[in-house]
Amino acid sequence: MSYLNELTPEQRQQLTDKSQLARKAKSEANKQKKYKTIRAAVKAHCIGCIYDPLAGGTSIQQITNCPVTRCELYEWRPISKASSSKD
Ligand code: SF4
Repeated sequence: MSYLNELTPEQRQQLTDKSQLARKAKSEANKQKKYKTIRAAVKAHCIGCIYDPLAGGTSIQQITNCPVTRCELYEWRPISKASSSKD
């Protein structure tokens, strides 16, 4: 991402720290939630696992492109409709 190249090292570190804090808070919130369906629980787990707001794309797009094929949840992960219609 080109805008990241324009940041100072301190700004980059602040952004990284904020991102890590947000991910940790989201992960903690997910652990305390009760999910109505397994699908919702898997989606929340995958988001906590892979989603990086600085990486580009939506959470579902990032989960769709998950490279960890040996993960037990891989076959059950939510995938984007755009991706599934291409297959
Ligand atoms: S399928 Fe991918 S994103 Fe989901 S839990 Fe496994 S490794 Fe993480």
